[in-house]
Amino acid sequence: MDIKELIRSVPDFPKEGINFKDITTLLKDPAGFKAALNELYELAKDKGVTKVIGIESRGFVFGGALAEKLKAGFIPIRKPGKLPAPTVSETYVLEYGEDKIEIHKDAIEPGDKILLHDDLLATGGTMKAACNLVEKFDAEVIQISFLIELSFLKGREKFTGYEIHSLIEYDGE
Ligand code: AMP
Repeated sequence: MDIKELIRSVPDFPKEGINFKDITTLLKDPAGFKAALNELYELAKDKGVTKVIGIESRGFVFGGALAEKLKAGFIPIRKPGKLPAPTVSETYVLEYGEDKIEIHKDAIEPGDKILLHDDLLATGGTMKAACNLVEKFDAEVIQISFLIELSFLKGREKFTGYEIHSLIEYDGE
């Protein structure tokens, strides 16, 4: 099963110059979905993960499925104003301007072993902010996983000291 074949590249979406990696073509393929989920599961199964955190919104799909398979809980990290109960937030710098992510204040319990998941690693800014957010709690980031890594952007360099994995790599656009 070649998972990469099931990822669609859409040029100039959402704006010119971005080659968007569309995972909906993988998600609609039952065998592809299963194969990708199994690979993520194999990477994480013996780590004692208690919570999987998925990053809005494409990190929710495999994050949720992976949590169930690992017998762990699932926690969403969301854009501002989406979570209904009190939150803790982290602001991070983008190429132009700032962005913010939030997590429910009561989502993480002391001693939780966290797996952070998102669909794609580009510059790593989003995932680094997620790590910083989790580290405001008394919990440990055990593993970070992505389906896709745009390795030419060198986002991985932001994660020295973390266990980090991706299933599919793109070396260039
Ligand atoms: P970054 O913070 O630069 O690592 O960007 C990662 C976030 O932006 C992830 O949540 C991705 O879903 C999204 N993203 C960035 N670049 C792309 C791309 N080329 N295709 C699809 N999603 C992307």
